[in-house]
Amino acid sequence: MAKRDILIIPDTRLRLKSAPVAAVDASVSALIDDMFETMYDAPGIGLAAIQIGVPQRVITMDLAKKDEPKKPQVFINPEISWAAEEKATYEEGCLSIPEYYEEVTRPKAVKVKFLDRDGKAQEIEAEGLLATCLQHEIDHINGVLFIDHISKLKRDMVMKKFKKAQKRGETTRAAYTEDTPEHRIG
Ligand SMILES: [Zn+2]
Repeated sequence: MAKRDILIIPDTRLRLKSAPVAAVDASVSALIDDMFETMYDAPGIGLAAIQIGVPQRVITMDLAKKDEPKKPQVFINPEISWAAEEKATYEEGCLSIPEYYEEVTRPKAVKVKFLDRDGKAQEIEAEGLLATCLQHEIDHINGVLFIDHISKLKRDMVMKKFKKAQKRGETTRAAYTEDTPEHRIG
């Protein structure tokens, strides 16, 4: 296993549409191991493969709270098969947009079809944080970021800030301390 660097905006790779995984083989398994190591180290509760520069439709997640045992979840080739009409608003953050949080409104519940780590087809119905996190990460593999769901004015401000930091050659990796991990959706 190896920890990988997390891509930060305005890295254009974050806008790529990731390709489906053809077969859940040893290379995908190794990718998943690296993703978990990177995600736990960040720390974040979710990660899409493209966030470490791999344009494949793979998502890792662990929504266990600090004092709970780890609960790693893997979603390969995830697809939203149903979304509730009812919406929910949640303050989101993203490991690729460090230290920026904004409220995003999305369907309150979703059903998602995916392959598990063994390549077996699964479907889950999610609500609450799991529904938000799944939608956030599925956005990532489609090249969409959570700031695409907020006002253009706010989005332009965030992009400007990160573009400036990039020009100055600053590493924008955040030094997380007090904020709750729930914010860092991934
Ligand atoms: Zn994210």
